Amino acid sequence: MKITDDISSLKGIGDKKKEAFAGHGITTLEDLAWWFPRSYEDRRKLTPIGELRPGKPALIRGEILSRRYSGSPYKKHAPVSFLVSDDTGTLEVVYFNGRYMSRAFEIHGRYVFYGKITENRGRVQMVHPESCREGSPEDVREVLPVYPAISGISQKEVRKFQRQIEPVVDEVPEWLPEHIVREYRLAGPAFALHHIHFPKDRRHVLMSRFRLIFDELLTLSTGLLYMKHDNVREGEGVRLDVSAAEEFIRGLPFALTPGQKRVWGEIAANLRDGHAMNRLVQGDVGSGKTAVAEISMFCAVRSGYQAAMMAPTEILARQHYQSLTKDFQPHGIRVGLLTGSMKKSEKNEVLERLLSGDIDILTGTHAVIQDDVTFRRLGLVITDEQHRFGVEQRRRLSVKGANPNVMVMTATPIPRTLAVILYGELDISVIDTMPAGRRPVRTVSVDGAGRAGVYRRVEKELAEGHQAYVVTPLIEESEKIEAHSAERVYQELSRKYRNYRVALIHGGLPQTEKDRIMADFYQGAIDVLVSTVVIEIGINVANATVMVIENAERFGLAQLHQLRGRVGRGSDQSYCYLIQESETDVARQRIRIMCESTDGFHIAEEDLHLRGPGEIFGTRQHGLPEMHISDIVRHGDVLEKAGKAAAEILQEDPGLVSDGYAELRRRVEKMFGEDIKLEL
Ligand code: ADP
Ligand code: MG
Repeated sequence: MKITDDISSLKGIGDKKKEAFAGHGITTLEDLAWWFPRSYEDRRKLTPIGELRPGKPALIRGEILSRRYSGSPYKKHAPVSFLVSDDTGTLEVVYFNGRYMSRAFEIHGRYVFYGKITENRGRVQMVHPESCREGSPEDVREVLPVYPAISGISQKEVRKFQRQIEPVVDEVPEWLPEHIVREYRLAGPAFALHHIHFPKDRRHVLMSRFRLIFDELLTLSTGLLYMKHDNVREGEGVRLDVSAAEEFIRGLPFALTPGQKRVWGEIAANLRDGHAMNRLVQGDVGSGKTAVAEISMFCAVRSGYQAAMMAPTEILARQHYQSLTKDFQPHGIRVGLLTGSMKKSEKNEVLERLLSGDIDILTGTHAVIQDDVTFRRLGLVITDEQHRFGVEQRRRLSVKGANPNVMVMTATPIPRTLAVILYGELDISVIDTMPAGRRPVRTVSVDGAGRAGVYRRVEKELAEGHQAYVVTPLIEESEKIEAHSAERVYQELSRKYRNYRVALIHGGLPQTEKDRIMADFYQGAIDVLVSTVVIEIGINVANATVMVIENAERFGLAQLHQLRGRVGRGSDQSYCYLIQESETDVARQRIRIMCESTDGFHIAEEDLHLRGPGEIFGTRQHGLPEMHISDIVRHGDVLEKAGKAAAEILQEDPGLVSDGYAELRRRVEKMFGEDIKLEL
């Protein structure tokens, strides 16, 4: 048996189980060894029978007093029950396969049972418990690992397979250099794998967990740092002249907020110093990140460079294109658009103009980072709503120019430790003020009975010339989910608001159609836009003052906050109506938080409490590989250590080419898959 063997080489794994394992990425013995318990079930503490409570599993010990079995050769399916007693009381242990079990226990023998306690007509019972004779080698009194569920494979089976591979797991060699093992006081990998699956001692389990979490975060950090290293060129960055900024700022229809001013100052210091900027700009929805981006791009162009601004969706990219065109045209700056859905000929034209320097600023979706896109003189790269982009996409964007300044913008607050690992030695700026005159959006939640009232109030806003969004969770009517589909709401509102123009937009429409609808909405040719979450991020129409969210219970907090951020962008009072139909506790809490606060950072914090960090700052959202045992937020302190170790390792061996790092290299490649290419 070798650790690289296929999982089907184990006894008891046929095609079905092989497939079930494969569904969770487990194809080799190694994968199985790295399939870690989610928790442990402590079966060491005995409960006196007199203290048993129905509904909970318990471990008991006692003497068999009697047996009751009414089966006979003619009546094969009768259950058997045993009366078990300790000093504190008696308990009935029941097995339905009575014929088989009736001989399993000796009267007056002493046994240990583990199972769930139930109550049946006033009698305390344990049905089908696991059992063994007291003191026997297979004593059930132990701490058992509980693995993440795999459909088609029971916990007992996973444990059995882990037992089977124990001999190879116990032979896993140390793969980290001694100085790192010593510096971070790491347990050996064989020790760690053993104790994580076969826990005996709490301290050993903790040491094992630390080692395995460290391993995973070290692998992650090494991969990320490698990619970062890969795109940081030696030598000078692009130096920009920031004195031009005043000219642009004077032309803005508003004065910068204190937060915008400060953040622009921080950016300007980076742009003028000749080292490539690497800065994350955080700011709540509506705080005016775009203006800061525009000032920066203006300086790039005035310094003789091009700039690129990338958005995560077509709609947002097109919106940027329109507003950038409007804001830059008066200055004679030419803006281009590049998205995935454009015709080949259109794309080619943009590419040519980009190369010839005929386009100063290119905005678009991730099409901007395709290999065929070449800038003439790229000096600044901005990504909007940064958290939507994957690691690899970011990497490709920043290698485009020689060593361009990079700025990433996000409305999602990111914990410091996470930001450092995601973006390396990146500087962070926070726009912490909202434009003056903004009135907080008034948020009201209603149930189904209040729905008609909401739409009457929407009509009042329409009568005053304002526009409204209505967001629904589904496109088409579904029998399974009782939700108002966009389609149905659209029809209903078209009938209700005869004097207004109602339109429907959803992800299933062709791009040209979506563009036309959005353009109409921007221009005020549409009054009510019924939509699925395609409008979630970034859309900016100041005249829209109402956001109605149907089935608000189906949206997460971050999503609700983003959606609400679509209104309240002008000086008029705006409203957000959350219509909730079915209620769960968590949904109710989310909606309560929405009604109480408009502060994105506060809401993100509350979200953290409700959902736990893994899900929000989940690796998937950040385009990171999936983690097995570590959580980049919860294990922030280990992450810091692992990041330091990774930096030391790459300093010593930047390409991970030495034999000593062969295993680390293999792990990095395994974790990042296609995303990473380690070159020899
Ligand atoms: P976000 O940070 O969510 O991307 P935007 O950049 O889209 O926010 O800005 C939201 C709105 O606020 C836009 O209409 C923008 O023109 C306006 N805005 C930005 N800065 C200011 C300011 N200093 N004063 C007034 N309005 C502003
Ligand atoms: Mg924005």
